Formats: sequence, C-alpha cells, structure tokens
Amino acid sequence: MIGQLKDKQIQLKRIYIEAKLPEPLQPLKELANNLWWSWSKSAIELFESIDREQFISLRYNPVALLEELSPARAQELAADSSFIQQLNSVYAEFQSYLSEEPAADSPQIAYFSMEYGLHISLRLYSGGLGVLAGDYLKEASDSNSNMVAVGLLYRYGYFEQAISLHGDQINNYPPQKFTKLPIRPVRDAQGEWLKISVGLKGRMVYAKIWELKVGRISLYLMDTDIDENDWHDRTLTHQLYGGDNEHRLRQEILLGIGGARALQALGVEADIYHCNEGHAAFLNLERLRGYVREQQLSYAAAVEAVRATSLFTTHTPVPAGHDYFHENLLRDYLYNYALELGIDWQTFVALGKIDPHNHDELFSMSHLAIRLSQEVNGVSRLHGAVSQKMFNVLYPGYNPEELHIHYVTNSVHYPTWIAKEWHDLYVETFGEAFLKDQSNKAYWRKIYDVPAEQIMGIRRKLKARLLGYVRDTLQEDLTRRGENPRSIFELLNAIQEDALVIGFARRFATYKRAHLLFSNLDRLASILNNSGRPLIFLFAGKAHPADGGGQGLIKHIIEVSKRPEFKGKVIFLENYNMEMAKLLVQGVDIWLNTPTRPKEASGTSGMKAALNGVMNFSVLDGWWAEGFRPDAGWELPLERTYDNQELQNELDAETIYNTLEHDILPKYYDVDETGISERWVAYIRAIIAEVAPEFTMKRMLDDYYSRFYNKLYERGQLARQNGCKQAKAIAAWKQNMKQRWDHIELAQADTFDSDNQALQTGEAFKATLRIYLNGVQPEDLGVEVAFFSRVNEEELELKFTQELELKAVRDGLAEFTCTVDPKLAGVFEYGFRAFPKSEQLAHRQDLPLVKWL
Ligand SMILES: *Cc1c(COP(=O)(O)O)cnc(C)c1O
Repeated sequence: MIGQLKDKQIQLKRIYIEAKLPEPLQPLKELANNLWWSWSKSAIELFESIDREQFISLRYNPVALLEELSPARAQELAADSSFIQQLNSVYAEFQSYLSEEPAADSPQIAYFSMEYGLHISLRLYSGGLGVLAGDYLKEASDSNSNMVAVGLLYRYGYFEQAISLHGDQINNYPPQKFTKLPIRPVRDAQGEWLKISVGLKGRMVYAKIWELKVGRISLYLMDTDIDENDWHDRTLTHQLYGGDNEHRLRQEILLGIGGARALQALGVEADIYHCNEGHAAFLNLERLRGYVREQQLSYAAAVEAVRATSLFTTHTPVPAGHDYFHENLLRDYLYNYALELGIDWQTFVALGKIDPHNHDELFSMSHLAIRLSQEVNGVSRLHGAVSQKMFNVLYPGYNPEELHIHYVTNSVHYPTWIAKEWHDLYVETFGEAFLKDQSNKAYWRKIYDVPAEQIMGIRRKLKARLLGYVRDTLQEDLTRRGENPRSIFELLNAIQEDALVIGFARRFATYKRAHLLFSNLDRLASILNNSGRPLIFLFAGKAHPADGGGQGLIKHIIEVSKRPEFKGKVIFLENYNMEMAKLLVQGVDIWLNTPTRPKEASGTSGMKAALNGVMNFSVLDGWWAEGFRPDAGWELPLERTYDNQELQNELDAETIYNTLEHDILPKYYDVDETGISERWVAYIRAIIAEVAPEFTMKRMLDDYYSRFYNKLYERGQLARQNGCKQAKAIAAWKQNMKQRWDHIELAQADTFDSDNQALQTGEAFKATLRIYLNGVQPEDLGVEVAFFSRVNEEELELKFTQELELKAVRDGLAEFTCTVDPKLAGVFEYGFRAFPKSEQLAHRQDLPLVKWL
C-alpha cells in the first residue's frame, strides 16, 4: 500500500487533528499547557492517575498524554466523579495561582539564556546552566516577579545519550514534535504569527516566536525552522551547542539581537536586562542600536543608558565555557551593524578585546557583556573572587578584590527537586507557612523533632525507588546495547538493596574528575568487597560531543563497571536528565563531587540532594565552600597540596578512600537493634536543618533583587528620564575625563621618607601630593594611598586604601594630603593613585581609569 502511494506520486497534505476532550476534562488541557503542573505535586498526581505507565513512557509529557488518550478512557475519566473532583480541585488551585499579579511598582526584568532546563519533555537544556535558568523562572513565578524570558526553541535540542557495547558514547538527536510541547504561537493584532528577522551575512533570517508558560512567567522562544528560510538557516535552531564556531556566532546573534527584537515586537520594554552567561551578550548591542537610531542618542550616551540597566552573570572559570570569535568572522556578520551604531570597527571590536589593535586576539563575549553591563556577578562566594581575578585584565591598576564583580550563590527550586515524601513531612512538621519563607531556618530546624524511624523510613523508601529504577533501566539499556543475557542477569543480582549508595552525576567535563575514584582500583576493590558493608556507586552524565576527554572518562567507567569485582557496585546509567537527577538526588545516601579546584563555579546538584536529606562529600569549592558543615557532610580541602595535578588527584583519591573506610562506612553501618544508626540520622537532620534552607531558589531570587535589580532599577530610571538627560551628562563627563586623563601629572610629593626610616606603630603616615590638573575639576579627581603586602612576585594583597583630602587649588595645581595610622606592623608596599570621582558613577570600574602616581 505504502509503495503504491509513492509510485503514483499522489500529492499529500498535512493535517493536524487535535484530540477533543469531553467537556468535564477540558481543564486538563489548560493544565498541561502551563509548566506549573511540573512542580505541583497534586497536578503531577492528577496526570499520573490518568495512565501512569503511559505517562512515564511519554517522558511525563501531559500534552502527549492527552493526545494519546483513547476516547474510551477519556469517557471513563469524564464519568469518574472522584477523578473529576480531583481535577477540579487542582484546576482551582491553578486558577488561584494565576490570578495573582506582581506588585505594580516592581521592575520588569528581561532574562536571556541559551538554555532552559524546565522539564525532560522540553529538550532545551544541556546541564547545570540550563537547569539553573529553569529553576529561576519557576521561582520568579512563585514569587510573583515581573519577569519575561527569552531563548531559542530547538528542534533537536541537546543530544540523548546511548552507550555502545564498547563503552563509546552515541549521540542521538530525535526531533521534538512541537505539537506535543506546551507552547503556543504568538500572534500579532492581525492574527499573524509574530516573526522577527536578523541579518546574517547579508541575508535576512526569520524566526517565529513561541510562548511557553512557566506558571505566571512567559518564556519566548525563537524558531528559525520555518518556510521563509532556506535550509541552512532553518538548521540554526536545530541543536543546542552543536555546530562550529560560526554556527555558534549565528545562534548568538539570533539569541541576543533577535531576542531584543522579539521583545520589542511583543511591546515589552523591560527595566532591567539580565544576561545569563555571555551567550546572549549581543542583546545589549541591539539595545544600543535602539537608543542610537530611534532616540538619536550619541553612541556614548546610549552606552550609559544600556549599562545602567544591565546585569551580567558569569558562570564558569573554565575557558571553554566562554565564547570567543575571531575578528574576521565577526566582521563578516557585524560590520554594517557597527556602522549603524555610528562607530568605527576599532571601537566596535574594542568591546570584546583587551587590545583592539591586536588582530589575533579573539573577541570575547564575556568581555562584551561586562563592558555593557554596570553590574556583574559570579555564582558563589569563591567564584565571585575567581571571576575578579579572571576579569582583572580589563581593569589594570586595580587589584582583583577591588573590582565591582560580586556574587549570588546559585540555588535550586524547592518544589521541583523535593521528593513528595519529604514535602509531605515538611509541610506537616514545619507548617504551610514555610513554603512562602523557605530560607527561614526556624522552620527547617523542626526536623530535629522528627523521630529517627520516620526519617529513615523516607530515606529507605526513596532508595528503594531509585534502585528499582536502576534495575529497570539497566535491563533495558544493556539489552539494547547487546550485552549477553547472563551477564545482565548477574549484574542485576549483584545489586544489593541495603547498600550505602553514593551518586555522582553531572556533565562529564574533564575538570569534574569523574575518574578520580578509580585512581587506585585495588584499593577501591578492597573497600567495595568488604563484606557486611555493601557500597554502590552510581554514575551518570553526558560528555559534550566534541569533548573526547570526557567521553574517554565514560568509557573508562563502563570498563571498570564490567570487571567482576565491581559488578553491581560501580554502575553507569545512560542519558542523564532532569527526571533521572530527581531519582538520584532523592534516592542516594551521599552525593559525591570532585571538581578540580577552583573550577566548580557553584554546582547545584548537591543542593538538590541536601533538600532531600542527602549528605554531600565534595571539594570545598563552589557552593560547598559555603554549605559544608562537619556534622552535615564531608570535605576535600580547598587548598591544593600539589601543583602537579596527577599528584593532587592521587592525594584526593586517597582522602576519599580513607574517609569512606574510616568515617562514612562505620557511621552508616553503626546500627542499633532497630536497624538505625543514630549517628547517621544526626547527619541527615543537620543537612536538612542547617544547609538546605540556604540554597533554595527563593533566597537566590531575593539576593538578585537586593544586590542588583533594585539598584539597577533606580539607576536605570534616573539615567533614562527626560530623554536620557542623565545618561547624556554622564557620557559627556566620562568623555572629558578620558580626554584629559593622560595629562594629569604628579607635580610634587612630600611623603614619609620610607626609603630611610621605619614608621613606628601608632605613628601617622603623612603625605602631601601636588597634582597638575590639566583642566580637570579638582572635585572630579580622587587620590588615595594604597598599602599592600606581597604574596609572591606577581601578587599583592591589598591591606587598605585611604583617600587623600583636597586641601587647596592654586595655578592649576591641586594639593592633596593625608594622615593615616596604618594599624599594621611588618613590611608593606604602598603607592598613590588617582581615579575619576563622581557621585554619578555606580562604582570605580564604571569608568575604569586609574593613574598610579
Ligand atoms: C542539576 C543538574 C545538573 C547540574 O549539576 P552540577 O552538579 O551543578 O554539575 C546537570 N544536569 C542535570 C540533568 C541536572 O538536573
């Protein structure tokens, strides 16, 4: 039949037949088309009760579930009064959730990200960065923030991982069926699908805009796989992090420039633009263009208006995590764009370079983002400091710790990651109010009153669920892989239900050192085979298709897992994703993380574990440096003992083996007659009470408001009032300072004679400096003394700075003096420096001129 149709060349048309639900089931459709359901325990249960098996096999996708629902089952449900009652109650909850509106005076925030990890049925993410963005939107919804988000709708997304019989990673890209996703086309007033376009190398590329509802928040997604584009351009939004460097540039132009145009087409004029990682940094170019072309601002004034309303969050100290483009490539795409901004090419490339004249230096998206954002942050306390060092090159004359780069420690969305069993217990024990005040430890500390049996009961139940899943997926995956039935059978038999289970799952980037545990296989084998204390290691994670090193690690783990001594004890699970992550972080006993210091910017999976009473055993890097408590987990110290990475790996592995053998295993297996280890339960209580509340997304969102959004809102409004009057004034003032800066000179200095004398403690350090102003207003000039102690040849630690006082101005000379008690003893180095000073500057690096005198 099929062959015949083909032969006759019949013209076939496509038709989409939407499943029509019986009237009483109609609300299901609305529920399925807003991701709110995915973090509502009652809505999840509702969809599960329709057909649990089917729901799971459809990757928990309720849109697909409703589409596949047989008319018979639909009729049955429509007639089932208890189901209808359940449905109506969930629907009422949803309606009431949606009916709340953000406070009228809250700033509107536009959030841009290349990836969003919202749910496994939407393959728009690769790893932690995306999951963070997804969790953030969910909390923004729960907290009623005034936020819109922008991203790309990928036809194939990130790959699905399979493993071959030989342990090689296979990357599959099944297409997403957009009709089965909870998205809807955005239409204009005429009912036409809203489209935007960007010029890519002289050709217009079009993108349609879809809307994805994340509770109360709209996420707008751009899609170029449409008829208007030729084949090559249609593939632009096919894969996340696929293709070459040029492809990435094209995607980032679409995300940034196209995204800003999409918001404009939607009529959204946000107060603050938040760039999640450098991928979207072109966004600020398009905003510049708006100010230059539509509001006739000078380029410099436009920069002020844009900077005053922009925040850039940087996510990694690993170079591969930052995007760089060669100037020649950039010129092919953005030369005309620079002209539209009214600037020459040199000025344009200077936005992403240290030295715009250096043709070989690559243009950095992170540098671009920093230069067009007044505020910048890393994602943990340590990562903030690491970022200050990394971006110090942009601010010569300042020490890293003086930079305006701050931090907000990442977090996780409680309702998404909490197991239902814990959630029920928390609500019952802490009271409903805690859900609105999640970072308040007073609630969480009520866990100390919960009996040990109840706590262990939940932990055991979650572990059993995880191990059940492990068996099922192993059986399925190994069968498909072509493993022989006997070895599958042996493997499944070797898995011990009562074992201590340790999980390690994340992207397989080499710096995450997934192989660390296998540094000494004999030692590991002896720990694992110490009968009476069974132990299982579960591994999962994808390596980027271009990362041979990461794929090698996976292969190595697969090989190890096949050895007889590790059978059922070292297990690799294929295709890590958010649903597997939930099972793992809820079901294991310990979450292991072993990154190379200091490369873990934050890490979030360990926080998901903490919410569920799972201990962490991790390097004191990223979030764990803030979260660790000796009574709630284990550490690998932050300080390196060896410069040589091999030796450091060996030492870290030894530390893990010893901690396991002498601390973790004895505590876990130290059970009383009821089978419970009180010492273990104490750890669980401590991580829930003292650690988990600090890493809820509510806390992170609050931090973004208090540290950045509120400030930017105020400054941005000021800068843009009255036709951007203030932005223009600041731009003019900066221009003037830049022009005169080189000619500011020290005329004379009378200081303490440190060459020939020692200052006594308690004695004042005095100095008088006369400075030739070259037309600069004396009040626009700051002069300060800075004291350092030397760490090594390159590094100085700043001890303090003290600003000098302006005493007099005569004949173009300004006299500055100081009298300081250093309150220090020892050997120091000091110097004087001048800097531009104005109340209108947000911070020193807002105009990063410094002159050491
Ligand atoms: C949470 C999560 C991550 C992030 O894990 P890290 O420990 O931060 O690297 C990655 N992938 C998935 C699927 C996750 O759920």
